[in-house]
Amino acid sequence: MHRGTCTKLVATIGPGSSSPEILGKMLEEGVDVCRINCSHADHATIKKIIDEVRRLNHRLGLHVPILADLQGPKIRIGDLPGASLLLEEGQILVLTTRSVDAEPGSITINYEHFARDVKPGHKVLLDDGKIALKVEETDGQENVRLRVLNGGLLLPRKGVNLPDTHVSIPALTPKDLADLEFVLQQDVEWIGLSFVRSASDVLELKHLIRKYQKTSRVVAKIEKPEALYDLDNIIEEADAVMVARGDLGVELPLEQLPLLQKKIVRKCLEKARPVIIATQMMESMIQNPTPTRAEVNDAANSILDGADAVMLSAETSTGKYPVEVVRTIKRIIQHIEKHHIPTEASPSLSLSEGVPPERRISEYICRNACMLANEAEASAIVAMTGSGYSAIRISSFRPRCPVFAFTPNRSIINALNLVWGIRPALYEKFVSTDHTIADVKLWLKKNNYVKPGDLVVHVASIPMEERGMSNMIKMSYI
Ligand code: PGA
Ligand code: MN
Repeated sequence: MHRGTCTKLVATIGPGSSSPEILGKMLEEGVDVCRINCSHADHATIKKIIDEVRRLNHRLGLHVPILADLQGPKIRIGDLPGASLLLEEGQILVLTTRSVDAEPGSITINYEHFARDVKPGHKVLLDDGKIALKVEETDGQENVRLRVLNGGLLLPRKGVNLPDTHVSIPALTPKDLADLEFVLQQDVEWIGLSFVRSASDVLELKHLIRKYQKTSRVVAKIEKPEALYDLDNIIEEADAVMVARGDLGVELPLEQLPLLQKKIVRKCLEKARPVIIATQMMESMIQNPTPTRAEVNDAANSILDGADAVMLSAETSTGKYPVEVVRTIKRIIQHIEKHHIPTEASPSLSLSEGVPPERRISEYICRNACMLANEAEASAIVAMTGSGYSAIRISSFRPRCPVFAFTPNRSIINALNLVWGIRPALYEKFVSTDHTIADVKLWLKKNNYVKPGDLVVHVASIPMEERGMSNMIKMSYI
């Protein structure tokens, strides 16, 4: 019998987890999506991980997709005069884009228009916000004078966050474009876009993917305050969203994260966009074999908020316990799902306003399939889907049973594995609806997903050969 959970698990694969043995164990323990962070992996390494995940999919009969995460406009300081630099509160510091002949005591920054884009009063945060500076003066060209608000020991090449500044770096840097071309050649199912500022960043990436004639889908990472002003449009244009709490928590006051997470999840559910909660989920397990109580609570609450997936970063990429952390978080998910049905999180099975007329039939069908399945305590909802949309829409209502998505579209099967409750499978026959339903029921039984006497709700589009939007619900016994 399968041990799949409805809430999915994304695990970042890195040096600590890329060996075939460990990766194999992680997938067997229930990793649903493998993420590769392009900031830290070269192309040969990326390719090795992708190939290994695909081999494991084949061997274990899984549909684990790859999420290739592009670095985006990440800003860093350069090398320091010494190995480190102690900054004290009140001290004045110069950041410069000039690499040679810089004033003594100044530090370089890799952001060409830094001096032009910042204004006096803007905050500049170094090393995940551990060090805070405030802009005193800029010459508008290359040098910026800053005062240290919060001191500390600065190390070379640390990240820079500019919560107040409209950063003029393009959404895709030259490195991102090279990484994008490479991961598209590998047909990765999902591509993460870091530091999204507006919906147009997402559109730009989608345009490039189409230009390469690929079908990879885009995860918009929400990690800048700017993105919050265009949140609705970003969610609309993206195929999925990530609450990237790492950088978001640096750029915003930390206390805003919990409510923001809930708000983003709710908006994503309303629009049927899968949403991933990321960063510091089981942080202490990078070093320790058990998580803290607070981490257990955070993972559980992310599930209760209604997230499609929770994500592990360093816990699995470089941590000491990649397999144990997967097992631990899966156990939390299983327990929460067994004892709590997250219907409060779903858009209360209500139809969102403004559904265009051409979508309305399929909206009503998806919503009512969930109500029917819940009321009858069905064991499965089966969606025959071309684009995957019906299955994702059904999932977004968070029914109390898994959603089996049967599709003839090979390019979306693995991608759907990211989505809450969805178990994707290939189905290529187009004989008749009756034939398909009988076929699918047999498959469910054979794979131990259902047993005789269970109820199943089917959603499809008839006539099948028109391959239109869902317009039919059928209920039947196994
Ligand atoms: P990152 O994104 O791990 O690529 O920085 C996630 C986050 O910022 O939370
Ligand atoms: Mn980030």
